[in-house]
Amino acid sequence: MPTPLPLVFDEPKRALPPRHLADLAPADRKAAVSELGLPGFRADQLARHYFGRLTADLDEMTDLPAAARQTLAALLPPLVTPVTEQVCDDGQTRKSLWRGHDGVLAESVLMGYPDRTTVCISSQAGCGMACPFCATGQGGLQRNLTTGEIVDQVRQAARAARDGVLGKPTRLSNIVFMGMGEPLANYKRVVAALRRITEPAPEGLGISARGVTVSTVGLVPAIDKLAAEGLPVTLAVSLHCPDDELRDTLVPVNNRWNIAEVLGAARRYAQATGRRVSIEYALIRDVNDQPWRADLLGKVLRQQIGAKRVHVNLIPLNPTPGSEWDASPKPVEREFVRRVEAAGISCTVRDTRGQEIDAACGQLAATARP
Ligand code: SAH
Repeated sequence: MPTPLPLVFDEPKRALPPRHLADLAPADRKAAVSELGLPGFRADQLARHYFGRLTADLDEMTDLPAAARQTLAALLPPLVTPVTEQVCDDGQTRKSLWRGHDGVLAESVLMGYPDRTTVCISSQAGCGMACPFCATGQGGLQRNLTTGEIVDQVRQAARAARDGVLGKPTRLSNIVFMGMGEPLANYKRVVAALRRITEPAPEGLGISARGVTVSTVGLVPAIDKLAAEGLPVTLAVSLHCPDDELRDTLVPVNNRWNIAEVLGAARRYAQATGRRVSIEYALIRDVNDQPWRADLLGKVLRQQIGAKRVHVNLIPLNPTPGSEWDASPKPVEREFVRRVEAAGISCTVRDTRGQEIDAACGQLAATARP
């Protein structure tokens, strides 16, 4: 077992990018436009372009007078500049590497499926949660991403999907906070981003909260806070293990909030929102894939959340460079699914998109290879 890194909750002292339209709630946009000396209605026009037509290019905003466009540029500073794009899975998986204003790097992954289009986005540059099997966790935290930087990943993905990069024009339907970072460690900015994403267009991107999933290592107070936001997004909890002794090492934050506490928060979340909670479980060969752990997982989820309120998502481990860990053999995986289902709990195995381009779950680690 590798030596655990220290957990990082505090904000590293790094300059955040300039204020962006997407940082602002609809009610604050008029004031921001007035501060620039323009009439308030320009705020609506600008929002219509950015959130409605998905453009941040002032040259495309031909209904705005040239002088106003120049002034409004102050609210659309370039935030996440594309650096590279890699494609695999027959063009249906596209990983984008982005650079922030200060050079930090983050990644997002657009995935086309027959029935939906999903983007997996980052909430932090790096991550401070130090899970030993996750590539991002090995690089530490560089900084939080701003609301604008989070929203702009979604805006650019929605635009690319609309413009047909997946072979035909599609509508971005699903957003998963499963890229780099721990979203609930960047709580305020992530919740503001959730609002921008789900507010109806053209005030926001108009994506249904039902299509949005926030994945967390299990920061209990933040889960409870999220439950009270009135945002019915799906909560995914990275459990990876049903017993504390092993989870203390796989998900080091377990030393702070243990399994019973995390599952209690998950149950309260399901009760408050009416949404089924997703439990993520990366199956690691001979580490957490034993039949008895499958039985124990089924039992604790039944007892502590309720069989109907929970779904288990098994993720075949994507080995990260330098790690001795590997995915479980398929027969072991099948037996694990069978036992969880025998406890009356729905259980699926996630497909592992993007493996050839290091875009699969837990492989995003842009900062480790600048
Ligand atoms: N910080 C959030 C989001 C992380 S990424 C969280 O921990 O939930 C989303 C999922 O990918 C998490 O469940 C994470 O544990 C999992 N993951 C990380 N590294 C992985 C790897 N190498 N193989 C499979 N899944 C991995």
